Amino acid sequence: MPDCIFCRIVAGEIPSNRVLEDEHLIAFRDIQPAAPVHVLVVPRRHVESLAALEDGDAELAGRLMAAARDVARQEGVAESGYRVVINTGAHGGQTVGHLHVHVLGGRQLSGHGTA
Ligand code: AMP
Repeated sequence: MPDCIFCRIVAGEIPSNRVLEDEHLIAFRDIQPAAPVHVLVVPRRHVESLAALEDGDAELAGRLMAAARDVARQEGVAESGYRVVINTGAHGGQTVGHLHVHVLGGRQLSGHGTA
């Protein structure tokens, strides 16, 4: 998707601060962090949102979750705790139309919501 900002980050056309990557996904620091640790896990393949994920993408979904776990370990918040968020669609507050998993931590987060 040429106009997709996260596709361009995956392609290296827009710089990002990567913390983890493999052949299926990349993880990079959010440009406007809402917590001391705020990393986005993004599939390399363009998937519009969680709503666009297909049943055949179950393996990819699992990889995204495992990567969120690995990011948390790497960032040192696995023990203190963290939040994993997937904003989906307009009412979900999704602003970038490429599936991404927020990993938030490093401070006490509120009882619910994103941060
Ligand atoms: P969402 O609101 O769930 O769609 O989240 C999109 C996230 O992408 C926001 O937290 C933005 O701060 C973040 N974001 C947008 N552009 C960039 C960028 N170029 N590099 C890193 N994070 C970005």
